[in-house]
Amino acid sequence: MTGTTSSSSDTPAPVQTPAPATTTVTEPDIRPVTDDGDHDRFAHYTRRADANRAYVEGTPVRALCGKVWVPSRDPSRYPVCPECTKIRERLRRRAYN
Ligand SMILES: [Zn+2]
Repeated sequence: MTGTTSSSSDTPAPVQTPAPATTTVTEPDIRPVTDDGDHDRFAHYTRRADANRAYVEGTPVRALCGKVWVPSRDPSRYPVCPECTKIRERLRRRAYN
Protein backbone atom coordinates (compact mmCIF):
# COMPACT_ATOMS: atom_id res chain seq x y z
CA MET A 1 0.00 0.00 0.00
CA THR A 2 1.50 3.26 -1.04
CA GLY A 3 -0.01 6.51 -0.01
CA THR A 4 -0.81 7.74 -3.49
CA THR A 5 -3.74 10.04 -3.36
CA SER A 6 -5.44 10.91 -6.59
CA SER A 7 -7.47 14.05 -6.59
CA SER A 8 -11.16 13.40 -6.38
CA SER A 9 -11.83 16.12 -8.90
CA ASP A 10 -10.22 13.98 -11.56
CA THR A 11 -13.48 12.43 -12.68
CA PRO A 12 -13.95 12.08 -16.42
CA ALA A 13 -16.37 14.53 -17.92
CA PRO A 14 -19.46 13.15 -19.64
CA VAL A 15 -19.20 13.07 -23.39
CA GLN A 16 -21.55 15.52 -24.98
CA THR A 17 -22.77 15.30 -28.51
CA PRO A 18 -22.32 18.63 -30.28
CA ALA A 19 -25.54 20.43 -30.95
CA PRO A 20 -26.38 21.26 -34.55
CA ALA A 21 -25.17 24.74 -35.26
CA THR A 22 -27.84 26.02 -37.56
CA THR A 23 -31.22 24.83 -36.39
CA THR A 24 -33.03 23.21 -33.53
CA VAL A 25 -35.70 21.68 -35.70
CA THR A 26 -35.92 17.97 -35.23
CA GLU A 27 -35.40 16.63 -38.69
CA PRO A 28 -36.05 13.10 -39.86
CA ASP A 29 -33.01 10.88 -39.64
CA ILE A 30 -32.06 11.59 -43.20
CA ARG A 31 -28.97 12.73 -44.98
CA PRO A 32 -28.12 13.47 -48.58
CA VAL A 33 -26.08 11.01 -50.56
CA THR A 34 -25.11 11.07 -54.17
CA ASP A 35 -26.23 9.15 -57.12
CA ASP A 36 -23.41 7.11 -58.52
CA GLY A 37 -25.04 6.65 -61.88
CA ASP A 38 -23.91 8.20 -65.11
CA HIS A 39 -26.97 10.18 -65.98
CA ASP A 40 -28.75 11.94 -63.13
CA ARG A 41 -26.20 13.23 -60.72
CA PHE A 42 -28.24 14.35 -57.80
CA ALA A 43 -27.76 14.25 -54.10
CA HIS A 44 -30.63 12.16 -52.82
CA TYR A 45 -31.89 11.94 -49.29
CA THR A 46 -31.75 8.63 -47.53
CA ARG A 47 -31.69 7.31 -44.00
CA ARG A 48 -28.53 8.27 -42.22
CA ALA A 49 -27.99 4.76 -40.90
CA ASP A 50 -28.30 3.35 -44.40
CA ALA A 51 -25.89 5.92 -45.77
CA ASN A 52 -23.33 5.23 -43.08
CA ARG A 53 -23.54 1.51 -43.70
CA ALA A 54 -23.29 2.08 -47.43
CA TYR A 55 -20.09 4.03 -47.04
CA VAL A 56 -18.60 1.36 -44.80
CA GLU A 57 -19.83 -1.83 -46.40
CA GLY A 58 -20.70 -0.72 -49.91
CA THR A 59 -24.30 -1.80 -49.59
CA PRO A 60 -26.94 -0.04 -51.69
CA VAL A 61 -29.25 2.53 -50.12
CA ARG A 62 -32.80 3.57 -50.95
CA ALA A 63 -33.47 7.27 -51.36
CA LEU A 64 -36.70 8.96 -50.29
CA CYS A 65 -37.75 9.08 -53.94
CA GLY A 66 -37.29 5.33 -54.20
CA LYS A 67 -34.00 5.29 -56.03
CA VAL A 68 -31.67 2.47 -54.97
CA TRP A 69 -27.94 2.71 -55.55
CA VAL A 70 -24.55 2.53 -53.91
CA PRO A 71 -23.42 6.02 -52.96
CA SER A 72 -19.78 6.90 -53.25
CA ARG A 73 -19.37 10.57 -54.05
CA ASP A 74 -19.35 13.72 -52.01
CA PRO A 75 -22.99 14.89 -51.94
CA SER A 76 -22.13 18.54 -51.42
CA ARG A 77 -21.05 18.83 -55.03
CA TYR A 78 -24.41 17.92 -56.47
CA PRO A 79 -27.84 19.53 -56.58
CA VAL A 80 -30.40 17.85 -54.36
CA CYS A 81 -32.91 15.61 -56.06
CA PRO A 82 -36.16 17.62 -56.34
CA GLU A 83 -38.26 14.56 -55.63
CA CYS A 84 -36.33 13.84 -52.45
CA THR A 85 -36.62 17.49 -51.43
CA LYS A 86 -40.38 17.37 -51.80
CA ILE A 87 -40.71 14.23 -49.72
CA ARG A 88 -38.30 15.52 -47.11
CA GLU A 89 -40.26 18.75 -46.73
CA ARG A 90 -43.38 16.70 -46.17
CA LEU A 91 -41.63 14.69 -43.48
CA ARG A 92 -40.36 17.83 -41.79
CA ARG A 93 -43.80 19.38 -41.79
CA ARG A 94 -45.16 16.25 -40.20
CA ALA A 95 -42.45 16.47 -37.56
CA TYR A 96 -43.72 19.90 -36.54
CA ASN A 97 -47.21 18.67 -35.75
ZN1 LIG B 1 -34.09 11.38 -55.02
